[in-house]
Amino acid sequence: MYDVLIIGGGLVGSSLACALEPLGLRVGMVEATPGTGHGASGPPAFDERNLALAAASLNALDALGVLSRLATPPAPIRRIHVSRRGDLGAVRLDAREFGRDAFGGVVVARDLGAALEARLAGLATLRRHRPAVLTGLEVGEDHVEVAVSGVGPDAGTESRLHARLLVAADGTASPVRSAMGIATDDHDYGQTLFVCSLAAARAPDGTAWERFSDSGPIALLPRPDGHYGAIIGVPTEDADAVAEFPDADYLALFQQRFGGRAGRLIRAAGAAATRSVVALPGSSWRRAWCWSEMPPRPCTRSAPRASTSVCATR
Ligand SMILES: Cc1cc2nc3c(=O)[nH]c(=O)nc-3n(C[C@H](O)[C@H](O)[C@H](O)COP(=O)(O)OP(=O)(O)OC[C@H]3O[C@@H](n4cnc5c(N)ncnc54)[C@H](O)[C@@H]3O)c2cc1C
Repeated sequence: MYDVLIIGGGLVGSSLACALEPLGLRVGMVEATPGTGHGASGPPAFDERNLALAAASLNALDALGVLSRLATPPAPIRRIHVSRRGDLGAVRLDAREFGRDAFGGVVVARDLGAALEARLAGLATLRRHRPAVLTGLEVGEDHVEVAVSGVGPDAGTESRLHARLLVAADGTASPVRSAMGIATDDHDYGQTLFVCSLAAARAPDGTAWERFSDSGPIALLPRPDGHYGAIIGVPTEDADAVAEFPDADYLALFQQRFGGRAGRLIRAAGAAATRSVVALPGSSWRRAWCWSEMPPRPCTRSAPRASTSVCATR
């Protein structure tokens, strides 16, 4: 019997497992993906997306012993500039005016995933069931019984786990939520996000840029590798066409939507230059391109539906 059984080993589930360590509880975690390294892929959210984390989140990750395991420290967000195309004026925030060094920092989700993985590997109180998926659950008087099936090399193995507390950290499409019959109100923003890293004529100076337009939002975030983490939202009906854009047209789209505040945008060099597409609710696919010296190489995999909040908050 576990004290706490966490379903999902993404950002939330992994962080929670770290936070529970000092309590000495028996903690279990069920995660569908096989893990990182040796060609195995980890949770889908640990991809090339750029995570802008508030200072409070960075403090929490530091206290959990995760931040020190990042290969590269977060890039500080010292200023935030928000504007809307066609409107006069802008919101400018400077951390110094609030007596702070930075509002937060930017990490690449892939790097944060690796740091969390390294931290989880050292948790004596955690038992991981992986790769395995929750297939059903029953709520009893004082415990929950969970049916778990192995996947991949463990396909065909079935087990039943028992826990005093079940935590649903299984993402936007949460199978736990479905199994519990908890309904949701979904809103489709009709936007598809493209994520990549870009270089610019002017190197990032700690400013996080956000710009809104009638076609969707765009953000340029300072990345730890000295590039910009770029996110652009396009109307979903245009997404297939944008996905096929040659690099020059793709860059031109960012430049036209963002304008010249960061100078001329240029292709980022090296392995960090990855272009990926994240479909928002309404679609259930994800595609990624390796954008290096090789021609674009599509790879398709299914993914849970992504969060809708991104467009509103980026
Ligand atoms: C392009 C983009 C940019 C973003 N930028 C930011 C940002 O700047 N700042 C920020 O704070 N957030 C950002 N987000 C949001 C952030 O990525 C998510 O909020 C976060 O990943 C959610 O974490 P989670 O652990 O709840 O879910 P997930 O990361 O989705 O993890 C869920 C886990 O559950 C597992 N799972 C699912 N079903 C089962 C099952 N039946 N059995 C076992 N395991 C299962 C999955 O394999 C997965 O590993 C961004 C999102 C996107 C798409």
